[in-house]
Amino acid sequence: MREYPRSVQISKVDQHDPRVEKAKTDSHSDAEKSQQVFGEYAVRQYDEWQGYLEKLHDGRQQPWTEEVILQRRDEHLELNQKTFSQILSGQDSVGKLLFTEMLYKYIRSPNYKKEILNYFSVQNGQAHIAVDTMPKELFLDVLRFHSKYMEEERKKFEKQCEVWKQEFIATCIQGIRDGWLPLSEETVRERVQETKIMLRDSASYLHSFGDWNRWVSTVDTWQDDESKRETVFHELTHAIAARNLIEREDITHTDEFGDILKKKIDFQRSGLRFRYGYQKGIEKPFIIEEFTRFRWLNEGMTERIRLRLLQQADSEFYQDERAAIQKMIDAGIDEQLLIDAYFEDYDMKVDRMNRVPALRKLIKAIYGNPTLGKGYLMAIENQLK
Ligand SMILES: [Zn+2]
Repeated sequence: MREYPRSVQISKVDQHDPRVEKAKTDSHSDAEKSQQVFGEYAVRQYDEWQGYLEKLHDGRQQPWTEEVILQRRDEHLELNQKTFSQILSGQDSVGKLLFTEMLYKYIRSPNYKKEILNYFSVQNGQAHIAVDTMPKELFLDVLRFHSKYMEEERKKFEKQCEVWKQEFIATCIQGIRDGWLPLSEETVRERVQETKIMLRDSASYLHSFGDWNRWVSTVDTWQDDESKRETVFHELTHAIAARNLIEREDITHTDEFGDILKKKIDFQRSGLRFRYGYQKGIEKPFIIEEFTRFRWLNEGMTERIRLRLLQQADSEFYQDERAAIQKMIDAGIDEQLLIDAYFEDYDMKVDRMNRVPALRKLIKAIYGNPTLGKGYLMAIENQLK
């Protein structure tokens, strides 16, 4: 038996390969499905099982007893109600604010049920909302309102995003003309347009600004418009960064015969972030572990580039990461070389030694630098993990 990890099967894929096109479409539709709005699922379950209950009462045969139907109808609703009430009385101030706002928006909406005001009170000078004791139909109405509200917010956001995308492209074109952004206008346009940007309900996913992964970017609802715009610029910078695409094995699920491996297109490198996959051992079950390296360097550079595009001096994001990069620049590493490496696609058409010349030059410059040396990147890696 092998003691050491065995690599999963990985092969490099050209970014214009038809398999990539398919992966992109799949990624977009998966994102659509996985983006949950708080309470949306509970509302859907409630309506579905309420339908069965009505059929049962009409005398139509159902495979479930009334007791089972009622339990299935209410279980997610009750769970959401509990979560809601826990967040309102918990220590998480952002969560508290978000959920309180949801209720205030509801009572300001034209068709709210006035009965909800009975659950508002003032205790020790603080507003208290007794969500836990609300009748479930009333709570359900709040959830329905929130789903509708999010639907409208998403539509507005989508329109707004088209404007921000154009603004982003325009700032990139300026960067290309000024000579520091080493991409073609066509590549920028293509990568921006193929990125699906979605508004993410902060009540479902707390404490994030945004995210980018495999042609999909999410932006969290809790931010104001200016913050959302900055987040969009940051995520779109990830989207136009260098990429090495690979086709790799991945476990989709495990059944009685073992693990089912499926081939998946992934970004092995995005900007200056690298990803490695290992399959541990040959005994079942196979475990595919993923290692990410130099995320700090990538995030720091992404935010530096974002600031440059928007001509902003500083931001609250990735300060330690940017400071570690600034230290490299102060030690004599050319900032342009960092930018070139960040945007340098892996060129499959040339010989192995010349596929990422800027990246090679950058690593050589860091290794040979008397202040930084070979240990610098890994020291920061361990420090900022
Ligand atoms: Zn980022």
